[in-house]
Amino acid sequence: MTSSIAITVDVHAEDRPADISRAAAWLAERGIPATFFVPSALFEHASFRPHIIRLPSLGFEVGSHGHQHDYIEIRALMRGAGADLDFLWRSHALYQDTFGSAPISFRSPAWCPLGPSAIAELVELGYRVDSSATPQRLPIFSSTPYANTWLFARRTPYELAPGLLEVPTSCLLLPAASPTWLTLRRRVSSAFLRLLLWEARRRADRVPCVQLHVSDFVPDASPPPLEEALGLRSFLPRRDGGLRFKVFLRERNPERVYAITLGIIESLRGEPGARFVLLRDLSGSALCHSD
Ligand SMILES: [Zn+2]
Repeated sequence: MTSSIAITVDVHAEDRPADISRAAAWLAERGIPATFFVPSALFEHASFRPHIIRLPSLGFEVGSHGHQHDYIEIRALMRGAGADLDFLWRSHALYQDTFGSAPISFRSPAWCPLGPSAIAELVELGYRVDSSATPQRLPIFSSTPYANTWLFARRTPYELAPGLLEVPTSCLLLPAASPTWLTLRRRVSSAFLRLLLWEARRRADRVPCVQLHVSDFVPDASPPPLEEALGLRSFLPRRDGGLRFKVFLRERNPERVYAITLGIIESLRGEPGARFVLLRDLSGSALCHSD
């Protein structure tokens, strides 16, 4: 039986700010707690700020999704040290100023792998949960195709460093996440999720952790325009961004995206014994000591 399921919602600068509140209201109406990962630069953004600061009062956790969520930060998290990682401190201070408490959970932009210096800084800053891992994800389909995308990471929550629990985003070649749902469409996404849930049921310590975007909850969302054209170069993996043709495969009709989201949430709610948790609730649990 599956004990805990974590729903995470990643927020980005391309989102419509009001969609944050709409996604939150949608989840709150159904009594579903979730962890929103937000780049801290948005805390200072006048149109985003009001939608973000009310999330905790609705029962949601706000985790850190980096500061700017860009390739400078991604490279720093993977390979940087010292001053490269100063943004983590800035982001932490900004969070503290905004919410009056310290962030507990962290997710790297694009689930990029974390180098030893980044992990050490997260521990020093007092983060207790990291959800950057995507075990067995194929690097070629990621945004960092030449990096090890947690290919050999464990599929179960584990202690990444003393006091820092890694709660991997569920993954099997592709992450259990919005880009995958939009690529596979409703029926195949549900089958993919059922496979992951079936796997989780065999291990009491496995925590299905899925990711969505705020626009996935909004049936009249307006998808951001594609900033690029499909061309031959789209089929060559870029060091920053990976294979770009994949973005052209994704569902862009907001009503169909919403239907996919409904299917995902229904599958999760139908899971026997399912209990939705915030990622911070998992810190300090027995999971820290299992393999
Ligand atoms: Zn992101």
